[in-house]
Amino acid sequence: MIKKECIIVGGGPAGLCAAAMALASGCEVLLIDRSPKLGGQLMKQTHKFFGSKNQYAKWRGFDIAEKLVSDIIGHPKLTVLLNSTVVGLYRDQVITVLCDEKYSRYQADALLIATGASEKFLAFENNDLPGVYGAGAIQTLMNMYGVLPGKNVVMVGSGNIGLIVSYQLIQAGAFVSTIVEAAKIIGGYKVHASKLVRLGTKILPSTTIKRAIGTDHVEAVEIISLDENYKEVAGSSRIIPCDAVCVSVGLSPMHHLLSMIGASTKYIPELGGFVPLVNDRFQTSLPAIFAVGDCVGIEEASAAMMEGYLGGLYLSEYLSKSHPDHAKLVSQYEKELFLLRDGPFGQKTKAGLKKMEDAKKNAE
Ligand SMILES: Cc1cc2nc3c(=O)[nH]c(=O)nc-3n(C[C@H](O)[C@H](O)[C@H](O)COP(=O)(O)OP(=O)(O)OC[C@H]3O[C@@H](n4cnc5c(N)ncnc54)[C@H](O)[C@@H]3O)c2cc1C
Repeated sequence: MIKKECIIVGGGPAGLCAAAMALASGCEVLLIDRSPKLGGQLMKQTHKFFGSKNQYAKWRGFDIAEKLVSDIIGHPKLTVLLNSTVVGLYRDQVITVLCDEKYSRYQADALLIATGASEKFLAFENNDLPGVYGAGAIQTLMNMYGVLPGKNVVMVGSGNIGLIVSYQLIQAGAFVSTIVEAAKIIGGYKVHASKLVRLGTKILPSTTIKRAIGTDHVEAVEIISLDENYKEVAGSSRIIPCDAVCVSVGLSPMHHLLSMIGASTKYIPELGGFVPLVNDRFQTSLPAIFAVGDCVGIEEASAAMMEGYLGGLYLSEYLSKSHPDHAKLVSQYEKELFLLRDGPFGQKTKAGLKKMEDAKKNAE
């Protein structure tokens, strides 16, 4: 077994920022990611980010990833393992890592989990037909491998991810004829939606997909209108020709490693599903294990970065290696996280965090 002072699982924005703070505090860090490159979701994001200057507004996602990687790479106390999946988390901060079909075991004095999120999917007839994708898969194909998944696409879901991926599909040369949205209103920013409408995309609220149609590939979809109780409106079925369907109906926090070791979790829909319960220091119910980013609740890269910095600072403090500017940095990042959650899109997160507080009190 290989021993390390601090192990960070996940090299997305949350894990990269946590690593930066742990290194700046003098900790020895092993950063592990299952992908061939660090950066997490940011590597797929070709659009310019919204938000504030402090969280790289107007930068493209992959440029932000490059900056966060350059902040830590080459540090003498950093070791990075890529193409390496953490498949097990056990007592005393022991992990099993799978790389090149070989398993290795590592043990840390403290661990930080920043595994991000996985896509939710929808149950509908023929949802396994070739040509039905999740939004993450489409982004990976298009923005990382230069492969266009279809020429005439129907998008399911009008949250920011659905809208942004629709726009990226159009930029890449596809036509997105229709976006169906089960809710009564468009979920994402109106500015993204308006741009799509100007480009000829129809956005249909109170509408969903009933089935994909085709023999060995998607050729069309059947869509239906929904009433106030999300039930099918009789006679509302329509067939829309397409060669690809993109399902973008939200993300679920990847809490699985923490569940495996028995850390307390709770189902909090506002945070995306089951989430580990963490305290104000991002410490799980197992004191030597911290968790930050989308795996603790679905938000945005901006929040994931702030949580990462805070998690790295608290983890270093736990290891008795507090950053020389610990108090100042904690107050700065907490303030920025507060401001990020203060807008209309932060209300859901705040409601979820309140439920997390209540769950922790009940558990005490
Ligand atoms: C289409 C789209 C557009 C977006 N646009 C914006 C935007 O404009 N602004 C914004 O702020 N945010 C945006 N986001 C959200 C943002 O990308 C995420 O909130 C952010 O990436 C979460 O960071 P994270 O580090 O928690 O997780 P991730 O970025 O998902 O990183 C998690 C990392 O953990 C690794 N990992 C997972 N499990 C394991 C394991 N078992 N072993 C080893 N490694 C593992 C993964 O490979 C990954 O690299 C967008 C997201 C999408 C999908």
